[in-house]
Amino acid sequence: MSTMSGASRPGPPGHDPTAADHVAMQVALSEARAALDHDDVPVGAVVVRAGDVIAARHNERELTNDPTAHAEVLAMRDAAAAIGNWRLDDCTLYVTLEPCAMCAGAMINGRLPQLVYGAPDPKAGAIDSHYSLAAGDILNHGIAVTSGVGADESAELLRAFFRARRA
Ligand SMILES: [Zn+2]
Repeated sequence: MSTMSGASRPGPPGHDPTAADHVAMQVALSEARAALDHDDVPVGAVVVRAGDVIAARHNERELTNDPTAHAEVLAMRDAAAAIGNWRLDDCTLYVTLEPCAMCAGAMINGRLPQLVYGAPDPKAGAIDSHYSLAAGDILNHGIAVTSGVGADESAELLRAFFRARRA
């Protein structure tokens, strides 16, 4: 799967994926695998600030019966607590799957400047697949987006999860 730095995406331009992006995404993928322990859809997210992972979480919707317990929301909560500020300036969120509208909204409310995601989500993705919530034209905060990092691994995890569920 090809990566996309955002040349054809509205809003602030993303960057070409770096080695550091791949390292951070591997941590997010480990988180995604941890969600399988409680039969949650395997999605993981980490927040990186100044080169350090300050939060790493996975989807806990089934575990906690909480419709808002997506990996991105949980990771942003932890990151905000870690830095003592709801403004996630200077932070990059890495997530294995394209964020939904709720998570994109949370990123905008946290003034997150940068998002790196893995696989597209044709069903609920609100960054590229449906809407362009990171573009900043409607909600007044643009997020620079890089996509496709670790996409194949992420997509395979999800495929295996849903295949096992159907079996
Ligand atoms: Zn979400």
